[in-house]
Amino acid sequence: MDKVIIISYGEIALKGQNKRFFENKLINNIRHAVSDLGEIEPYREHSRIYIDIEDYNENEIINRVKKVFGVVSIRVAKRFSIDMDQIGKVVLEEVKSRMAEKDVKTFKIQTKRVDKKYPKKSMEISRELGALVLLNIDGLTVDVHNPDIIINVEIRNKAFVHSKRIDGYGGLPVGTNGKALLLLSGGIDSPVAGWLVGKRGVAITAIHFHSHPFTSERAKEKVIDLARNLSIYCGKFEMYSVNILPIQKEINEKCPESEMTILSRRFMMKIAERIALDKGIDALITGESIGQVASQTIHSLKVTNAAVDIPVFRPLIAMDKVDIINLAKEIDTYETSILPYEDCCTVFSPKNPVTQPKLENILKSENLLDVDGLITEVIEDMELITIELK
Ligand code: ATP
Ligand code: MG
Repeated sequence: MDKVIIISYGEIALKGQNKRFFENKLINNIRHAVSDLGEIEPYREHSRIYIDIEDYNENEIINRVKKVFGVVSIRVAKRFSIDMDQIGKVVLEEVKSRMAEKDVKTFKIQTKRVDKKYPKKSMEISRELGALVLLNIDGLTVDVHNPDIIINVEIRNKAFVHSKRIDGYGGLPVGTNGKALLLLSGGIDSPVAGWLVGKRGVAITAIHFHSHPFTSERAKEKVIDLARNLSIYCGKFEMYSVNILPIQKEINEKCPESEMTILSRRFMMKIAERIALDKGIDALITGESIGQVASQTIHSLKVTNAAVDIPVFRPLIAMDKVDIINLAKEIDTYETSILPYEDCCTVFSPKNPVTQPKLENILKSENLLDVDGLITEVIEDMELITIELK
């Protein structure tokens, strides 16, 4: 008898001709996610992916696989040659092991007969196995509507028995939907924004802006930590680290103080766009959400957006902060995000930022600066950091 992990993927199955491409990407991403645990080779059979557990650490494999985008659910199953007596034995074992974990009063046997050559029908098999459980284990009753446990029996080329489902995040395998450049600050929002777009199969590259020496090494380490956490889901990626202090100094000198934030935000977008175009990246991602702060009023968003032509994805745009925080906790970036290190935006942050900036005024202020030259200057100085799994 073998123990196997069965991985189901939903949406990929809908992709028609591209199905193979999506499946291969998913298998590659799963293989990569478990690569340091041994010579583990996931394989495909009948629109599911399998991993033979052998001597590997089952819980760790599950923990890794559930974070691979595209994975809808994971089951740990026993697999063996089809034989009704053996199926009965394994079902009894399965019920007992679930009863050892929690209080079980009701159960249901659910049979799926994929191999229609097998002489017994699904309902018949379920009924027989149900009777066997009732006969051998005291204190249980059948409940087909709302049972405490469901024991699944599958008759395929082999028999499979499993009773637990672990949910994945769904989505699409990273690398199947182009590339986007994530503006990653040290805050709560932008890692969540990157995670959400990554979940749709988009490969992430990141860009972070700092104001060294006004922002510290520790602030930079914090962002690298956040990026590493993202890479658990999104795989290895590159992060550009850009010092925008020269730009902030110029703005500080030549433009109204109240426009500091909005002008910096437009520079960030323009710098990101320049790099994206240069690296063949199709879109930008930000963690902006309507009304969250002065720089994210609808007027400010309009002015920020007008800085670039490239598509900008803002997956958090209509989300409440509490929901963003909950998601940050779920993906394990929250605790790092709330570490209190200074951010480049706080260094020069105005006492009274404009909340209703007018594009024409902002453009007038920008005209006082050598926008292209400044962008070239900071890009020439940027640092490239490779973000790999922790
Ligand atoms: P976050 O929690 O993501 O820091 P925020 O609520 O602090 O967001 P802002 O400071 O207005 O909001 O930034 C809005 C978005 O601009 C961020 O979500 C991020 O995408 C981008 N951004 C802001 N600061 C930086 C930075 N230092 N480096 C890279 N991107 C940044
Ligand atoms: Mg921020």
